Amino acid sequence: MAEYLKSSYDLIVIGAGPAGSSAARAAAQRGIRVLLIEQRQRIGIPVQCAEWVSQWISHHASFDSKAVIQSVDEMIVHLPEGNDFKFKNPGYMLDRSLFDKGLATSAILSGAELLTETKALQTSSEGILVHQGTKEEWIKAKVIIGADGVHSTVVRSTGKPPLKQLVALQYEVALFEPQSHTDIYFHPVYEGGYAWFFPKRNRANAGIGVIPSKTGLLPKLLNHFLTHLKDSRKLPRIEILSKTGGSIPCEPREQTVYGNILLVGDAAGHAHPITGAGILNAVLGGTMAGTIGAEAIIREDLDLLKNYETEWREAFGKSLQYGLFKRNFLEENWNRREIDFNDLVRKSWVGFKEYHKERSVW
Ligand SMILES: Cc1cc2nc3c(=O)[nH]c(=O)nc-3n(C[C@H](O)[C@H](O)[C@H](O)COP(=O)(O)OP(=O)(O)OC[C@H]3O[C@@H](n4cnc5c(N)ncnc54)[C@H](O)[C@@H]3O)c2cc1C
Repeated sequence: MAEYLKSSYDLIVIGAGPAGSSAARAAAQRGIRVLLIEQRQRIGIPVQCAEWVSQWISHHASFDSKAVIQSVDEMIVHLPEGNDFKFKNPGYMLDRSLFDKGLATSAILSGAELLTETKALQTSSEGILVHQGTKEEWIKAKVIIGADGVHSTVVRSTGKPPLKQLVALQYEVALFEPQSHTDIYFHPVYEGGYAWFFPKRNRANAGIGVIPSKTGLLPKLLNHFLTHLKDSRKLPRIEILSKTGGSIPCEPREQTVYGNILLVGDAAGHAHPITGAGILNAVLGGTMAGTIGAEAIIREDLDLLKNYETEWREAFGKSLQYGLFKRNFLEENWNRREIDFNDLVRKSWVGFKEYHKERSVW
C-alpha cells in the first residue's frame, strides 16, 4: 500500500460514504485518475443511520437489491394531542452497510482506486496529508472532494466552523409484527427534533434526534419512547439488538467550493434541516461534484468547479434553505408556552400543508 502514499492523482475524494463513493464513481467514469480514501477499516460500518431513503434513489444510484430490506409506502406522524396523520412517502429501508459498500464497489468498478484505513489529516491546494498505519505522507491532487461527513477534516482546513446539528441515539429492536409504513413521533421533550420507528422486516430502528444541548438526555428519552411504543402497541416486550447514533447537519453551507476543494454530502450540510434525511442529496451532490471535477480537469480549467455551487443549489438548494427557515422557526418557538405545540409541528414538519404555506412568498 505504501507506494500509493507518494503518488499523485487527478482527483482525490475523502470519505467513502454515499457522497464520496458517488463522486468517485462519476469522476472515474470520465477516465481521470481518482483516489477514494476512507478512514474506516470496513466501508459502511458502523452504521450510523435510520436507513430510510426515498424511492427516488433508484434513479440516481446503482446498488444491489440486497441492500433493500423492505419497501415502505406511508409515513404516519403522531402528534402529542393524540391525532395521527398519514402521508404518502414511498421509500426503501436499507441495509446501509451493504448500500455504502455497493456504492464504493461501483466507484472501483468505474476505475477509482480505494484506500481504507487511511485518514486525511490536512488539506491544501496541492493535495492532502494522510495517515495510514504508522505513515504520514502527502498525496498530490488537482481537485479534492471533501465527502468526510458532518465532522469534516476538509472543512476544518478551510477554516470554516461546524454547522448547526441535531444529535441522535438509535436502538435496533426486534419487530414482532411487520409493518409497511414509517412512524414519526413528536413530543415537547424531544427538543428541536422527533422520534422515529422504521421497520426492517423483523427488526426496526427506533431513535430520537434532539438539539445538541439535550444530548445528555437522549438515553432517558429513548427509554421513554420505547416504553410508549410498548404500551401503545401492546407489545409483549422490547428487545434491543444494537445501538448507534451520531450527528446530523441541519443547515446548508453558504460556500462549498474553495479553489480546487469541493464539499459534498454532510460536509456541505446537504441533509434536510427538518427531517435530517441526507442520503439522496449526498448521492446527487456527490455525482455532480465528481462530474464537474472531472470536467474541470479534462478541460484544464479549474474555474469550472464553481459550476458545482450553482448546480446543487439549483437542484435542491431552495428546499434546504426553506428547511433551515423552518428549523429556526421550530427551535425559536419550541418552548414558548403561548404557542400550541401541535400547531408548531404542523407548520414545521414537511408532510403538512402548513409547512409549505410561506413557500410562495419566500
Ligand atoms: C442517527 C442518524 C440517522 C439518520 N437517518 C437517516 C435516514 O434514515 N435517511 C437519510 O437519508 N439520512 C439519514 N441520516 C443522515 C445520513 O446518514 C447522512 O446524511 C449521509 O450519511 C451523508 O452521507 P455522506 O457521504 O456525506 O457522509 P457519511 O455517510 O458520514 O460518510 C462520510 C465518510 O467519511 C469518512 N471520513 C470522515 N473523516 C475522514 C477522514 N478524515 N479521512 C478519511 N475518511 C474520513 C467516514 O468514516 C465516513 O465513512 C441519519 C444520520 C444519523 C446520524
